Amino acid sequence: MDPKIQAHANILELIGNTPLVSLSRITAGFKGEYYAKLEAFNPGHSSKDRIAHHIINEAEKQGILRPGNTIIETTSGNTGFSLAMVSIIKGYECILAVSSKSSRDKIDMLRTMGAKVYVCPAHVSADDPRSYYQVAKRLHGEIKGSVYINQYFNQLNIQAHYDSTGPEIWQQTGGQITHLVACSGTGGTISGTARYLKEQNPAIRILGVDAYGSVLKKYHETGELDTEEIYPYRIEGLGKNLIPDATDFDIIDQFIKVTDEESAHMARELCKTEGIFAGYTSGAAMQAVRQLEAAGEFTADSRVVIIFPDHGSRYMSKVYSDQWMEDQGFFDSQNVGEPEKVQY
Ligand code: PMP
Repeated sequence: MDPKIQAHANILELIGNTPLVSLSRITAGFKGEYYAKLEAFNPGHSSKDRIAHHIINEAEKQGILRPGNTIIETTSGNTGFSLAMVSIIKGYECILAVSSKSSRDKIDMLRTMGAKVYVCPAHVSADDPRSYYQVAKRLHGEIKGSVYINQYFNQLNIQAHYDSTGPEIWQQTGGQITHLVACSGTGGTISGTARYLKEQNPAIRILGVDAYGSVLKKYHETGELDTEEIYPYRIEGLGKNLIPDATDFDIIDQFIKVTDEESAHMARELCKTEGIFAGYTSGAAMQAVRQLEAAGEFTADSRVVIIFPDHGSRYMSKVYSDQWMEDQGFFDSQNVGEPEKVQY
């Protein structure tokens, strides 16, 4: 390439260094200052670009991956998109086992990006042979030279955020951050980011966001996996029905549970107040901030960073569809508190 031309060698060079944006409108009346880390500015439009790139680079360094090999993963969509994108540039086959809860748009996008997609039932246990975990494991066993990314159990997931998201936030806040609020799915984002930040300042509060219907908060508090906690919910990418190894529970100070309904309304409110068209879990993270503020977590000196994991365009047939909102009953009432355990 002519050195006078200011271009990146490929799309992967744009991963990371996402912007931090002040949230002043939606937090009007709250104590402290609030900043959103906009992970939708990654080229694959989510934080998962960071782990896809990091894990594949590490596998190459260790000689595990060679061009033409197959990459296999279970994913709610975002990791899949990122893996598909990295696979295209680096010359790998990409196979994805996804939950049937994933939006149609996400599945279509993955196929558009060249991935082979297996859609697996969402409401079966992790050890059921139909679950996306078991399908991915089986394919890994069957396909020679395949690499199973295994984001829920891969420590490189934490490392990716320790190396990039953590240092970026520390630098962007000039070391003034007092609280980190992040959704927990695999736990890689919150664990890696928190590990770096706590090394700089152990007083920083690490607040994890969990869903009703997920086991994470209870496990954090009791050290036990309570299957009674598991029931279906709508938010994709947040919470879990198992205990992921990629979550460092010791580094998280507190988990906050949020409802599907309040998170959905909050995502819409973010668009209308801040002009930020973010994904469903960004609404969940913001809802957690509102609950924490009401509970007296913050003071005038608080500098709160909230991770917004992905972009709103991935949810046009869900949170940003009036029809979908109506079908869920989200316009009927603004329920507060723990939802009933319903099947849907
Ligand atoms: N939000 C969305 C939309 C996601 O896809 C994910 C990843 N499952 C998360 C939040 C949570 O991130 P992590 O897996 O790093 O905990």
